[in-house]
Amino acid sequence: MIPETYWVLERLNMLPKMKRSHFVNKHSVQFVNQHGRISEPFYFHDNKPHECSQTWQVRRSEFDHLMIENAREHGVQAYEGTRVLEVLWEGERAVGVKVQDEDGTIGEVRADVVVDASGQSSMIMSRLNLREWDPELKKSALWTYWEGAYRDTGRDEGATLVLQTQGKHGWFWYIPLHDDILSVGVVASNDYLFKNRGTVDYEKIYFEEVEKCPVVKERISSAKRVSQFYAQKEYSYRSKRASGDGWVLVGDAFGFLDPLYSSGVLLALKSGQLAADAVAEGLAKGDTSGAQLGKWEPEYVRGMNRMRRLVCAYYDGFSFGRFVKRHPHKKGAVTDLLIGDLFREELDEVFQLMDEMNAEAGAFEEPAVA
Ligand SMILES: Cc1cc2nc3c(=O)[nH]c(=O)nc-3n(C[C@H](O)[C@H](O)[C@H](O)COP(=O)(O)OP(=O)(O)OC[C@H]3O[C@@H](n4cnc5c(N)ncnc54)[C@H](O)[C@@H]3O)c2cc1C
Repeated sequence: MIPETYWVLERLNMLPKMKRSHFVNKHSVQFVNQHGRISEPFYFHDNKPHECSQTWQVRRSEFDHLMIENAREHGVQAYEGTRVLEVLWEGERAVGVKVQDEDGTIGEVRADVVVDASGQSSMIMSRLNLREWDPELKKSALWTYWEGAYRDTGRDEGATLVLQTQGKHGWFWYIPLHDDILSVGVVASNDYLFKNRGTVDYEKIYFEEVEKCPVVKERISSAKRVSQFYAQKEYSYRSKRASGDGWVLVGDAFGFLDPLYSSGVLLALKSGQLAADAVAEGLAKGDTSGAQLGKWEPEYVRGMNRMRRLVCAYYDGFSFGRFVKRHPHKKGAVTDLLIGDLFREELDEVFQLMDEMNAEAGAFEEPAVA
């Protein structure tokens, strides 16, 4: 997670559960370049001295379980093991869902509003043909889990590492979880990682990439792999719109952004919060039109675009180090964006200055190949 997740968790009254949990505390991020040079840890607290600057490295199944329990405690009727087969429509208005429970019984649930939070399966986006792939971010990921891999201690124990591979074809994430488990995955263009590879063997591809990242290789050298390999292909996309009459999209069901800065859960929670406010307001005044349910979309998309620009800048080889040296008073603003504080117009000055540097020679490291 990234620190700004704190505010949505606070509103959901989830913080006590998070603080009691066994999730590893995350205080920082570190970047490693293709030559193996490790940056100083980048402590969130130095930028914002507030408890929100400590976040967590969660195992999603456990975090999601805490979330659903929390929702129940606050009066939500939640069903698990129930599959939505399709959204029900009357003309262009969504009016409910057709569901199948665990023992195969099929039924219908009528509703004034359907919130599609179905993640990458994006039920409504697919049904209405709304998906737009991001042409610049055709990346893929390949990952697995390790037990007993190297981990730092103390305040650095939960640091996420982002490590470039030699030749800058891609980057690894190195994320310490609880129970001595580490999530270690590589991201690169889909063409490079899978399509033009000459093999479909995930294990072979994974270890070929590990060879190009000696810091990862060393850290996992005496560890035991405790899961299969997982792959996710070509995955940055967005819906042409976030709502229609009686329906609204949140999280990955609306859009997904490359995981470089670990922004996915923040964006999912933030869009959920904004959509929930619009739904509550709409129900109170008897307006469940697309305009009402999606009134948050422009602000949210601006925030998502700010994160996207930072992601693209990394892949283009933009040097944030040089940028901060040139504009030291903007270090805080860049950090704010990277921790997920994406919804403030005044931060756009950073992008104006980045554009100015873009126009000059010297703003870039060698661009990433992939
Ligand atoms: C390789 C990779 C690495 C990532 N790393 C990070 C990271 O470090 N940090 C981060 O914050 N994010 C990361 N993300 C992104 C993050 O996983 C997503 O953005 C986030 O999970 C979106 O949440 P969501 O609730 O919208 O969707 P999901 O978490 O996918 O949840 C959707 C839910 O809907 C359910 N569902 C789907 N269809 C149906 C149906 N028909 N009926 C009933 N239920 C259904 C699914 O079972 C699932 O429980 C990563 C993503 C990828 C691909």
